[in-house]
Amino acid sequence: MRVRFAPSPTGALHIGGARTALYNWLMARGGGGRMLLRIEDTDRERSTPENVEQILDALRWLGIDWDDAEGTEGGIAFQTRHEPRHRAVIEQLLAEGKAYRSHAKADDVKAYKERLGADRGFRGAEEPTRAAADDATAAVRLVVPDGETVVRDLIRGDTTFRNVHLDDPVIARGDGSPLYNLAVAVDDLDAGITHVVRGEDHLSNTPKQLLVLQALGAEPPQYAHLPLLHGPDGKKLSKRHGAASVQELREAGYLADAVINYLALLGWGDEDDETILSRAQLQERFDVSRVSKNPARFDEQKLR
Ligand code: GLU
Repeated sequence: MRVRFAPSPTGALHIGGARTALYNWLMARGGGGRMLLRIEDTDRERSTPENVEQILDALRWLGIDWDDAEGTEGGIAFQTRHEPRHRAVIEQLLAEGKAYRSHAKADDVKAYKERLGADRGFRGAEEPTRAAADDATAAVRLVVPDGETVVRDLIRGDTTFRNVHLDDPVIARGDGSPLYNLAVAVDDLDAGITHVVRGEDHLSNTPKQLLVLQALGAEPPQYAHLPLLHGPDGKKLSKRHGAASVQELREAGYLADAVINYLALLGWGDEDDETILSRAQLQERFDVSRVSKNPARFDEQKLR
């Protein structure tokens, strides 16, 4: 088993992110697997070294460790360093006719669909917006085949996406820079990730990542999308509910072990269970497929 925690360093480590990191860690440590840390720093404006440090600091405080990613300094993979590889994959897909250059903008996509009916996804290869193969100023879109893409999820079961609803996704911008879904799919493939465990907010990205993997002839990993965290009032967890980040929990004086125990059991153990389990026991008992697909409620009071 190889899992990864892949935070974007655009802010502090939120409680939901800490839970994602923890579940990955429990899976790896409980099953003799490896856990990699990948910093997804492709949003160059909002990703800062301070945020990276803060995330690492929060993970260290929680006692969540990771294994060295091969070929990296300090064991951490930084997504921006993989850009040459992402660009090479895009070139390969272009050469194989699995992607094409396109000048289509959002308006063109909209007009296409208005013309052909909602039951057609944008298939830009047939359009006048298609650019010449050597037009390096054009974006690159992935050719989406007809049919369906099924996301098999250890928590949610199968979710079927009709490919007509996906539109040929952009995988590189006009300046050649790779897009997020391409980068994630390639990085997971290259790192040999067997299980992708991440927040449910990524579920709509997953079919696009699956299509990239399919175009590369690669086996997809298994997925588990974790439901969002709510506060005690059933609303999306936010600052209104109290501490929202690991840093804030730490400053409020909670113990790392208490945070780990509470987050580990959240949403799959008995909600009112006040059992205190050691890290070894948590690793042994954790089973991602038992996590409920309904939002879990985080109640800071229960940490006291
Ligand atoms: N970087 C993404 C985030 O912080 C996670 C992507 C993933 O796990 O695939 O939300």
